[in-house]
Amino acid sequence: MEELQTPVLDNHLHLDPERGRGMEAVEEFARLGGTHLLIVNQPSWKLGVDSTDPEEFRPVFETTIEIAAEATDHLPGRAWPILGAHPGLISRLVDERGCSPAEARDCMQGVLDIAADYVEEGDALALKSGRPHYEVSDAVWEASNDVMKHAFALGAERDCAVQLHTEASEDLTEVADWAEARGLPAHRVVKHYAGGRLAGPTPSVMSNKDWIETAAEAGEPFLMETDFIDDPDRPGAVLGPKTVPRRVRWLREQGYDDAVRTAHVDTPERVYGIDTESTLAR
Ligand SMILES: [Zn+2]
Repeated sequence: MEELQTPVLDNHLHLDPERGRGMEAVEEFARLGGTHLLIVNQPSWKLGVDSTDPEEFRPVFETTIEIAAEATDHLPGRAWPILGAHPGLISRLVDERGCSPAEARDCMQGVLDIAADYVEEGDALALKSGRPHYEVSDAVWEASNDVMKHAFALGAERDCAVQLHTEASEDLTEVADWAEARGLPAHRVVKHYAGGRLAGPTPSVMSNKDWIETAAEAGEPFLMETDFIDDPDRPGAVLGPKTVPRRVRWLREQGYDDAVRTAHVDTPERVYGIDTESTLAR
């Protein structure tokens, strides 16, 4: 096991022990010095859930909670689950299931209500929501924004962060304002798959060298992620599980020690209220 003398958190990845590499990927992450993981549920349709009834999404969440518990056994720190509805679900509901945008919105808000119950019970750390990163009709866009606003209200109510999947952007202040208006501080909104620069939410920066360096230079709170999808059909579609520990080593070599602490200790505490140092068994 390589020692990096710091917690190393991958803020957003997926694991599919059934079809993908599962715990082998966790062990690879840990071997390179990784310590903590935030595991986001897979899109529901990838687990065969094709329903308009929010209750039918429970197995997706239960599976993710089990995976996080198992991953914790393979880490020097621990893993936490993040639960929600993938924003692409709205297109599946509208285009394939014949839902109106309003019906799709209601379904997705119901799915988030259930995810929030798991947070309330202490079984999940945060919520996941967002809006499509591709072109959609105005009605679907509006409905997606309503889903996201509902997630913010739930985050405020349950005192938890909300990770977002959105279009690529360096300015999401309008979205962060929607969160603030519902009582969720902007810094507890996390834009997953962020570049190095972002106004509004806290960026969870994809761990390409350029973007990580931009974030490190900025000196602002940020997180690091791979969005590893653990899908054997799409190898190399995203960054692999070794990437975050490798980039931490690289940041250290470049003299960005403060940025390492920002991304792996201070920002996780600020956003999620988690203590990555005390949860390290040393
Ligand atoms: Zn993802």
